[in-house]
Amino acid sequence: MTFSVYSIRKDFPILEKKINGQSLVYLDSAASTQKPLQVIEKEKEFIYNKYAAIHRGVHSLSIEATMIVEKVRQQVACFINAKNTEEIIFVKNTTEGINLIANSYGRNFIKLGDNIIISQMEHHANIVPWYLLSKQIGFNIRILPINNNGKLIFEQLDKLIDSRTKLLSFTHMSNVLGTVNPVKDIISYARQCAKKIAIQLYILLDGAQSIMHQKVNVQDLDCDFYVFSGHKLYGPTGIGILYGKKSLLNSLPPWQGGGGMIDKINITLSKSFIIDITYEKAPWKFEAGTLNIIGIIGLSEALNYIDNIGYKQICIHENELMKYANYHLSTINSLHFYGSEDRQGIIAFNLGNHHAYDVGSFLNNYAIAIRTGHHCASLLMNFYKVSSMCRISIAIYNTKEEIDFLVKKLQYIKKLLG
Ligand code: PLP
Repeated sequence: MTFSVYSIRKDFPILEKKINGQSLVYLDSAASTQKPLQVIEKEKEFIYNKYAAIHRGVHSLSIEATMIVEKVRQQVACFINAKNTEEIIFVKNTTEGINLIANSYGRNFIKLGDNIIISQMEHHANIVPWYLLSKQIGFNIRILPINNNGKLIFEQLDKLIDSRTKLLSFTHMSNVLGTVNPVKDIISYARQCAKKIAIQLYILLDGAQSIMHQKVNVQDLDCDFYVFSGHKLYGPTGIGILYGKKSLLNSLPPWQGGGGMIDKINITLSKSFIIDITYEKAPWKFEAGTLNIIGIIGLSEALNYIDNIGYKQICIHENELMKYANYHLSTINSLHFYGSEDRQGIIAFNLGNHHAYDVGSFLNNYAIAIRTGHHCASLLMNFYKVSSMCRISIAIYNTKEEIDFLVKKLQYIKKLLG
């Protein structure tokens, strides 16, 4: 199948939308991608014909829905090349996946005086859960720094990892700079450092941004945990994936209690309330309560959608567009870029001394949707000594014409505001 971005655009009905009388130019896919018709229709078809609560029913609809959901688990495992289907946990989003690890692994295995390492380019989703827990337990959070090009100085892991280090948790790709970290090299180096001092170091990768741009192979990366959100992958909101190595997941306690995660339970009501309880094995012990069944169906179709286009084609299109955008944006002389030119899918900048909100609001007059603010990456804002940035982020449906329009309007703003 030959690739045409104009055919792809027909799959996304929202791209037809007019805002302020102008055609929408959606450059905010790092926040959330738009949804193709295939995903929308699949969810609708499931609700019309197949919907029922899963796992606990003996009636046909429930049995069929359970089989469909468990098949999606298998599909996700294949998608990221997990060794085992039971390594895939359905969560709400990346944030919930990280909170799960913090509250299951972290709460039970990280002790007073221990430390964990995160990086300077983390999203708050990979900062705040650890901060909250560290306040309760008393462990330290160490920061792996970046250089001026927005690259992790990962050689410093040698100094940061010591006998009390329990976890290295960092992002596969920066949501601000677009830097794709050489995660395989970093993990391998971190494992060497840990081996030298004979400690067990676990590694969590935040895949929220990377998963939409590149094929992920968790076995090849050799991470212990990998998390991502469906809504940044052309799928629905409210569904995400936490991958964890099977033996590790089975050694962790559940973090939330409720229906669906219990193997056996015996409740005695005598003077005191006694519960004798055993939990399901992973992944089900981490899936208390009714799952986002419709979201899982939507996610499955989003994965089909990506498979049909192919990551190879996605990369070709996005890389070409990024090259085009880097070049044409750099012709605006008062545009200051953050990070380096080999960024993927994302460009962060400020226009002269103008506040990012002003630039973003101005572009909105022309239906150009960009993101402005601190991008939930306060450590990074501190590093660059700014309070906000403008960020454009592209996806499979963006075109060179949209970049031309953006450049034209930025030039106009510059002229207007001085
Ligand atoms: N991590 C990164 C790198 C992100 O960019 C984001 C969202 O933008 C998140 C985590 C949080 O994702 P979610 O809001 O889907 O949980």
